[in-house]
Amino acid sequence: MSNGALAIQGNEILRASLPGLKRLPILMFHRVVEEIPPGSLYDIHFTRQNLDKLLFFLEGKGYETVTFEDLLARPAPPKPIVLTFDDGYEDNYLHLFPLLKKHGMKAVIYLLGDRAVPSNRWDADKGASPAPLLHQNQILEMARSGLVEFGGHSMSHSNLVKLEEPAMKREIVDCKKSLEGLLGKPVVSFAYPYGFFNETVKRTVAEAGYLFGIAVEWGPDHFGRDFMETRRVCLSPDAGPMEFFWKTSRLYPAFRRLLRRFSPRIGQWSY
Ligand SMILES: [Zn+2]
Repeated sequence: MSNGALAIQGNEILRASLPGLKRLPILMFHRVVEEIPPGSLYDIHFTRQNLDKLLFFLEGKGYETVTFEDLLARPAPPKPIVLTFDDGYEDNYLHLFPLLKKHGMKAVIYLLGDRAVPSNRWDADKGASPAPLLHQNQILEMARSGLVEFGGHSMSHSNLVKLEEPAMKREIVDCKKSLEGLLGKPVVSFAYPYGFFNETVKRTVAEAGYLFGIAVEWGPDHFGRDFMETRRVCLSPDAGPMEFFWKTSRLYPAFRRLLRRFSPRIGQWSY
């Protein structure tokens, strides 16, 4: 289906689903590892063991994982949840993919458009050890499984807010073209690198034909109020059920806003 046809059909289905979707939890992860490396930067690691436990818990609570394409294609199930993984680390193939198969769950992985980027070199100047990114054959195997949907995350993991407009546009548009060439179907969502965006970036993502712009811990509380500013929550590496309930509760977005008022640096993500 073309981007335009998908948008028209998807909008109708989404409008019908939205009343039940307002509290759609969207979780954000990055790396899935056997062991969290000592002194690692940021909270971007989740152990395979803890993710296994979390998926088991979500299953028990009746959550059903959906992707953004699912939301466009059919009405959402009664307790939907979206699991997202940014940057496209190879460990997503090694550790996440087997867990998705085990639990029969789905995830969305945000990839760079430039397949020649071998690792997270955008973090190198902060002293992060290089982590390899997914190879093309791993991406295609996961796409074929139907358990993983891929979205865009720019060509080179640039801070789009700092780029001149033509370069910013290339990062967004070329990423879509590249991924659609690889996957052979429309790519419907785009996660802003580092979670950074402004109105021009949002508009460019929409004009490029993405139907969802994926932010980090801000954006409207309710899913669907602004599809180009879709809010996610980030779980800490040792998160259990309590943290999940708290961060997906109605109170949490208000708490985040309060925190940012007292400490504006909170929410300055660097992923
Ligand atoms: Zn990223």
